[in-house]
Amino acid sequence: MMLRKKLYEGKAKVIYRGKEPNTLIQYFKDDATAFNNKKKAVIPGKGVINNFISELLMTRLNDINIPNHFIKRLNMREQLIHKLEIIPIEVVIRNIATGSIVKRLGIEEGKVLPRPIIEFYLKDDKLNDPIVSEEHIIVFEWATHSELEEIISLSARINDFLTGYFYSQKIRLVDFKIEFGRFWSGQDNSIMLADEISPDNCRLWDILTNKKLDKDRFRQDLGEVDIAYKEVAYRLGVLSEKEFKKVLKNDF
Ligand code: ADP
Ligand code: UDP
Repeated sequence: MMLRKKLYEGKAKVIYRGKEPNTLIQYFKDDATAFNNKKKAVIPGKGVINNFISELLMTRLNDINIPNHFIKRLNMREQLIHKLEIIPIEVVIRNIATGSIVKRLGIEEGKVLPRPIIEFYLKDDKLNDPIVSEEHIIVFEWATHSELEEIISLSARINDFLTGYFYSQKIRLVDFKIEFGRFWSGQDNSIMLADEISPDNCRLWDILTNKKLDKDRFRQDLGEVDIAYKEVAYRLGVLSEKEFKKVLKNDF
């Protein structure tokens, strides 16, 4: 195997230096973590599935002119991406109340929100990713006012698009987390969507039964996590049943 420089190993992915300047390779692992790394497991095939799902969603978002870091998928577990300067904020968009908003604010579980809500969390595991305000982001210079406006506007478009896209596959997009970064060209930079969009960072419920098809199956010990991720992949038409069975059996 070609030797290449590992730049970073995170909880779900490894980042390598790409061959071309200003590119990186994202390697999707099977590792799953929750509750700030306190709960850990390996979900066989998860990395492959997330690689393919994220490829599909980033490509569709690119089709509607949402700038994002995805360049091309390299193999079952890796994709080539633009190197960005990550803005250290996790952007959460919520359509239905569940998870931390229910615990923190006592909102009724499953309440359909009158309009989507956007929240910001500081990307800092040591501090437990605390929720922050727009004021914090600007005053502490995690992003400028105009960058934040761009992030909010892109997030609303991404939510509208993904909500419809998942709905057409009988999946409710309950909430999700995304990240953005600065794409530098010369002295100028522009905001791009980064990281991944997959059942690891979206809550996805079956429209008819509300069955959870995402990482909550792992967080809440609901079982069949790999099957749920696989189901999302099937519904999105990412891989045929035959291809998937082969992939999962051989374990790359
Ligand atoms: P974590 O760092 O939270 O453990 P991951 O295991 O998913 O998460 O690691 C992937 C890391 O790569 C994240 O920290 C993410 O911010 C970063 N990243 C994602 N996309 C890009 C990009 N285009 N350029 C630079 N860094 C990126
Ligand atoms: N999320 C994520 N990474 C995190 C925290 C949250 O991808 O570090 C996603 C999570 O999967 C969900 C959304 O962001 O889709 C909102 O999560 P919430 O704030 O409810 O957090 P949790 O209940 O996981 O603490």
